Amino acid sequence: MTAKLVDIRQSRTSLEVQDGQTILDAALAAGIPYPHGCRSGRCGSCKSRLIEGKVELLQHSRFALTDEEKADGLILACRALPQTDTAVAWLGSDDDDVQPPRRLDGIVTHLDDLTHDIKLVRITPEDRAPLLFNAGQYAQVGFNGVPARSYSMANWHGYGGLEFHIRRVPGGTTSEHAHSALKTDDKATLEFPLGSSSLRLHHSGPILCIAGGTGLAPIKSIVESALAHGMKQPIHVYSGARAERDLYLVGHFQALARRHPNLTFAPVLSEARSAQHRGGLVTQVVAEELSDLDGWKAYIAGPPPMVDAAMDLAFARGMRKEDMHADVFFTPEEPPGSVAFE
Ligand SMILES: Cc1cc2nc3c(=O)[nH]c(=O)nc-3n(C[C@H](O)[C@H](O)[C@H](O)COP(=O)(O)OP(=O)(O)OC[C@H]3O[C@@H](n4cnc5c(N)ncnc54)[C@H](O)[C@@H]3O)c2cc1C
Repeated sequence: MTAKLVDIRQSRTSLEVQDGQTILDAALAAGIPYPHGCRSGRCGSCKSRLIEGKVELLQHSRFALTDEEKADGLILACRALPQTDTAVAWLGSDDDDVQPPRRLDGIVTHLDDLTHDIKLVRITPEDRAPLLFNAGQYAQVGFNGVPARSYSMANWHGYGGLEFHIRRVPGGTTSEHAHSALKTDDKATLEFPLGSSSLRLHHSGPILCIAGGTGLAPIKSIVESALAHGMKQPIHVYSGARAERDLYLVGHFQALARRHPNLTFAPVLSEARSAQHRGGLVTQVVAEELSDLDGWKAYIAGPPPMVDAAMDLAFARGMRKEDMHADVFFTPEEPPGSVAFE
């Protein structure tokens, strides 16, 4: 097999896609701002029309792409391996501006422990210029001598640099480096901004945010941006953690909720009892409290099982697919097609 040419209509570019490479991966590597979210066939943000040619589709969820949509000529760019030269057009999902991704050099300007295993890392571009991105997007962050990984921005505008919340994964190359070796003034590289699970400013219905662990980083960005833009609809934030010591930013969100009566914030502990906080899986608590999600938008971020459960729940409660924006913190070692779907 040889590389295939893929014509991406909106970018007016013909791209070489290597064997085993998805259309989305090739497009992002070429700097094309292809709309995308989970990159693992779960969210549908990269849904595209196959105009010409043939692709093999890797495993994906039925929410992301239904059999009817496939029969109608739609594909997921993150799951599509071109079998012939191909032409595609992304459907596009939103009216917000999308900045093309670019690479830049930065400096670590601030480090702080948010919990026993979550570190705040602030990176400022070397030229100190403000950075444009949409709340909820992420960057590929690289430090000296360790591979770059995806981390979501936790602030909502790029004045004063980018804020990341990095959880230590035991044995993890880059997160361990961030926790044990990283110092202020260290150099960093950024490929940025990435992802399409960002705040939709024109939505006027209620908003549901569900975070698992450091999934709270993009949710913080989205909520702060929504409030700063004067969005007045109900915004419900659920933040799932194992135990009290894994919770963070509780005081920050409680203070925001006091200033903005349309915001509620509920920490949920899955493995510990607490007089103050709800107990159970975050998705169980949402299921008990919200019965009808028709007309709502959801922003969901965290580990794959939590995101899958939250998406199942939201759709079962009447949420429309176009209102679901999910960021799956999948690991780079997870091979395409290995994700378990119903
Ligand atoms: C879009 C996106 C946004 C993300 N945003 C954030 C963020 O804001 N904050 C954050 O902390 N992480 C985030 N992640 C996860 C992050 O990119 C890395 O996967 C994580 O930091 C581990 O990298 P590592 O190099 O330390 O581990 P690796 O060296 O890649 O992995 C070492 C071992 O740990 C396992 N592993 C890797 N990641 C995890 C995990 N998350 N949980 C359990 N086991 C794991 C691997 O399978 C492997 O066995 C995000 C991921 C994606 C795709």
